[in-house]
Amino acid sequence: MNLEISPVAICHSPYKQKFAIPRQPRLVPAAVGRLMLQGECNNPDLLRGIEQFDYLWLIFSFHENLAQGWKPTVRPPRLGGNTRVGVFATRATFRPNGLGMSAVKLKGIGVDNGQHYLEVEGIDLLDGTPIYDIKPYIPYSDSLADASGGYADEPPKSLTMTISDQAKQQMTAAELACPGFSELAQQVLAQDPRPGYRQQDNDEREYGVQLHQFDLRWRVEQGVNHIIAVNPIRH
Ligand code: SAM
Repeated sequence: MNLEISPVAICHSPYKQKFAIPRQPRLVPAAVGRLMLQGECNNPDLLRGIEQFDYLWLIFSFHENLAQGWKPTVRPPRLGGNTRVGVFATRATFRPNGLGMSAVKLKGIGVDNGQHYLEVEGIDLLDGTPIYDIKPYIPYSDSLADASGGYADEPPKSLTMTISDQAKQQMTAAELACPGFSELAQQVLAQDPRPGYRQQDNDEREYGVQLHQFDLRWRVEQGVNHIIAVNPIRH
């Protein structure tokens, strides 16, 4: 039975590129997004009572990866990128229907120029991600404290962060334009976004990623992640 569905919302996110988005929700609590309700769902009636819940489940499309298709087995970064497991034994983005699910914290609801939205914290979604359903997280059923997490039993390790003197000044300017940017940038980079095979304590490379309207640059030395620069993106 085929199913034709349209997005109920589009996510506005600080993550402008897939690189450096955390692997799961809530690893970066400072990542705040807005779910902009779409079409006939842009109606406050659909949100009535939602503020009673602390967390929401989002069902969404890995829309940027759909064109690349999927394979029955994948190599999770958690297993060092060499061991294959079935796609249904992973949270990989390349999967038969290209759907993802994330539990995120509900911060509030609002309306901007007739566009109703939900503000959510701890997202792991790319800017522009289509959301296909939103449901309340129900602790008595959804929280399974005794469950085994298999090969992903522990949260990923995080790196200590430092900021160069130059980046500190740039960060102050970024913070003025975008309050909370420094905390967001540090939480994102503490997740060590480098590909698994490059996650050594010393790495000559400089890395960069776009976060909100800024280009963030960093390097890992002696297991510490140094933010080198924070520059506004030039269009
Ligand atoms: N929590 C979800 C799940 O378990 O279904 C997502 C897990 S998936 C491993 C997380 C990754 O999805 C992020 O690191 C990011 O690179 C990628 N991602 C997020 N939004 C995406 C989108 N719209 N299209 C493609 N990839 C996306």
